[in-house]
Amino acid sequence: MVSGDVSVGGRRVFTMLSASASGKASSQASPPNSLSPSRAADFMQCPLLYRFRVIDKIPEKPTPAATRGTVVHAVLERLFDAPAAERNVRRARSMVVREWERLLARRPELAELFTGDGEDGRGEGAADGAELARWLARAEELVERWFSLEDPTRLEPAERELFVEARLESGLRLRGIIDRVDVAPTGEVRIVDYKTGKAPRPEYAADALFQMKFYALVLWRLRGTIPRRLQLVYLGSGDVLTYDPDEGDLLGVERKLLALWDAIRRATETGDWRPRTGPLCDWCAHRALCPEFGGTPPPYPLMIQPRLPVEASDDVPGGEGVTP
Ligand code: SF4
Repeated sequence: MVSGDVSVGGRRVFTMLSASASGKASSQASPPNSLSPSRAADFMQCPLLYRFRVIDKIPEKPTPAATRGTVVHAVLERLFDAPAAERNVRRARSMVVREWERLLARRPELAELFTGDGEDGRGEGAADGAELARWLARAEELVERWFSLEDPTRLEPAERELFVEARLESGLRLRGIIDRVDVAPTGEVRIVDYKTGKAPRPEYAADALFQMKFYALVLWRLRGTIPRRLQLVYLGSGDVLTYDPDEGDLLGVERKLLALWDAIRRATETGDWRPRTGPLCDWCAHRALCPEFGGTPPPYPLMIQPRLPVEASDDVPGGEGVTP
């Protein structure tokens, strides 16, 4: 048994990590101490999914789509190392294989994606060159499509893959990685994020912009200036979604995040992480452990705290109803 105390939401929480809890997950379990856009989205989608990822830290198998996203992002980042006049389609496409090999050298387990029994369950573990070739070709298509949406010969990013972290007055730490930050000669800032999927339908655009407003809030708190424009570049469908935030937008996001963090803190202390089913359950890596689908989660690896008196909140009634 390992014990200690950790700060959660600005408060000290005593924890015990039980050696009897199952496997890898429990040996690494710890309370959350910061919030990123992805994990905030996880909690809003399903609190139990958040628990599996953040508290239990249950490993997830890499997927071909996510791995392709990593490779494409690396190409779009590194292309700017070349002089402006040399940032062309041919160079960018040729970088795909190089970035894949670079990633594979760091994470050799990714080779299993293309053994014939990785992506679709076929074969007996032999390397599937055709499958890998198709996957690389798709990555090259996505990279090429970017040139129809932006012109890298006319861009000089101020930052690429920028890690940002800010602590709000409440003590909540917000963090994330911004794909690209452009700064105009006038000083106006544009935050850019690349997506390898398709643009969402208009009714889901607010969800997509939540991540960008999160980054805008962090940059505002760090630098004192509200970014002028947020820009999502969808390589899958060839769309660009932009939004110009104002102070009211970002203050609203800050309030939402504080309410969200309060709900996460309460769930951490009480161990009450409720599953919330939805269309994305079909892609959930932890479905086999989910009670909604007949599974049993591993024992909760943190010490349960007595339930605190809960203040009424319009935003987060019992941790539910938090939407971007
Ligand atoms: S299967 Fe659905 S309800 Fe269950 S943990 Fe995953 S996202 Fe949540």
